[in-house]
Amino acid sequence: MAFYSDEVIQELKQQTNIADIIQQFVPLKRSGAGRFVCRCPFHNDHSPSMNVNPQMGIYKCFACGAGGDVFKFVMEHEKMDFKAAVEWVASATGFQLPELGAPVAPEIAEERTLVRELNELAADWFVEQLPKSEKALNYIRTRHLSEETRHFFKVGYAPEGREGFLSYAAKNGFSPRQLVEAGLAVERENGGIADKFRDRLMFAIENLSGKVVAFGGRVLEKQKKPKYLNSPETALYKKGEILYGLSKAKNEIPKAGSVVLVEGYFDMISLYQAGVKNVVAVSGTALTEKHAEILSRYTKSAYLVFDGDEAGRKAALRTIEIVLPEGIVPKIVALSRPNGEKIDPDNFVNEHGASAAEDFNRELTKAEDWFDYLTRVTPTETIEDRAKFVTHLKSILIHMRDRELQHQYLRLLAERYGTEANFVGIRPKEEKRKFHSEPEMDMPEPISEDEQVPWSALPPMELRFVNLIIASPSLWEPASVFFDLDFASSGVSLFASEILDELLSSALAEYTEHRQINLMRLHDSLSPIPAQVLESFGEETWDGEAAQKEFLESLAELEIRTAERFRDALKSKPITSETMSLRLELHQFASKTIRARLRSDAEVTRDPTFFKNLLDYRTKLVEYSEKI
Ligand SMILES: [Zn+2]
Repeated sequence: MAFYSDEVIQELKQQTNIADIIQQFVPLKRSGAGRFVCRCPFHNDHSPSMNVNPQMGIYKCFACGAGGDVFKFVMEHEKMDFKAAVEWVASATGFQLPELGAPVAPEIAEERTLVRELNELAADWFVEQLPKSEKALNYIRTRHLSEETRHFFKVGYAPEGREGFLSYAAKNGFSPRQLVEAGLAVERENGGIADKFRDRLMFAIENLSGKVVAFGGRVLEKQKKPKYLNSPETALYKKGEILYGLSKAKNEIPKAGSVVLVEGYFDMISLYQAGVKNVVAVSGTALTEKHAEILSRYTKSAYLVFDGDEAGRKAALRTIEIVLPEGIVPKIVALSRPNGEKIDPDNFVNEHGASAAEDFNRELTKAEDWFDYLTRVTPTETIEDRAKFVTHLKSILIHMRDRELQHQYLRLLAERYGTEANFVGIRPKEEKRKFHSEPEMDMPEPISEDEQVPWSALPPMELRFVNLIIASPSLWEPASVFFDLDFASSGVSLFASEILDELLSSALAEYTEHRQINLMRLHDSLSPIPAQVLESFGEETWDGEAAQKEFLESLAELEIRTAERFRDALKSKPITSETMSLRLELHQFASKTIRARLRSDAEVTRDPTFFKNLLDYRTKLVEYSEKI
């Protein structure tokens, strides 16, 4: 499949300020030195855990580990594939992407455009039609939807008659055949084409970017069937991938730290209008794994507010099984009137009036933990029932990705039912469908546990030294002249040395090639661990003189250590006149360096010979290292 070249993607990345992009989704706060912090949108964040570093072009959450470059952010936040994210960033920054030689599938791209244009046209038209129908207006009034809410959610009305929208669309240049393709018209048995939605209240279904991609049409009179009529799946609309209201609620969910999951369009809209904005509805289908996966990017906590009837109970059971493996912990909310009668969220909001949001949130605090809920609604009187129940629960838990949470539930199960806290004898249900249908291109592998930075093994002075050089342009030239030995020679462990060497030599290679150190390019060129070390560098900057001083002092210290290390290595060698004289030379070398360092002290930066001496010592050390 055709794709943008690495050069184009690099250029786009260089021209993009990641902070500007993230700012469009999450408010950023300055944290000094051109960096920013924000609350992480990928976990339930109460304090700003996410750092955004425009120079390196990266974001990183220190609480949940989410991190990457601007494309990764858009992919994760907007649930796009890599290519779509590149295009999104390009259009957000006004960057002109080259035409791709061979588009993936032109007919699909065309169909998408057609479906999008027709759905937008239809949404506006339905909204306009509603006030023209007394019947529809009356109905809206009984549901207490304000004018503002109605427009915000694009709630409209499809009038009676077979050709209302058909003729409007024709005036706008669309053929009846195209309407059929977009799911807005149907072919009749006699061969004619008619509007699909007639005499129905219309709910516009939006994708995450807020574009209308489908409709749900509801009857106004109870006796008519079917109660709901939905758009068919099209190039833009996959039922199992779109949650009603998520385009409006997506920023509210991370803020609230949870999502309220309801069953109907009106439930969603009523709660939102009342002020409970972290709400989405599953519509036209049961909740799918893909839905759960999408939601899990926004929160790890869900309130299931389903009807109290048998269908609602089944939906709750199924939803629990779907969301748990994605790391979302569900709680079950049962709304009722003071007399105990079960009601849906829409009724609840209307009956509670001005205090609806407050009252609803109070209901949430009384929500039942999923584990207790399952225990309550599943018969567990007999041994067989209990065994079945435990096996069932374990077969849900075995799919959980959050190991700690999984362990906690296993223990809970073990405590309550006296079972083993393991999965012996439990078979995973079926092979879980992989979320990403196509391989991610150009994306780094996620960092696995054995790729964590071994902070305790990294020597602080050397670490600071590398940071100093990278952060101080005045040192790039002297550093690139100086470095040809690795850190291991001064006594740093080989392991730590490899990390520091890669970081420093990549930085200096970047300088040699481009006469500057571009942090974004440097970061991209590093392997995962050195890249993480680079990310960790603080916001400390050194002024010219302080940088020079610390640079020379650190160099001297490294030389002294190297000399002493060589000298010690010689102690284990057979005593010959040659090894003895080498040991003496190295000892004198170290003492001389220490003296020179002491003498210059505060003056070190103004002593032009000091750096030259160090360079000479370095040459000698290289000679020594060859003899040893
Ligand atoms: Zn996070």
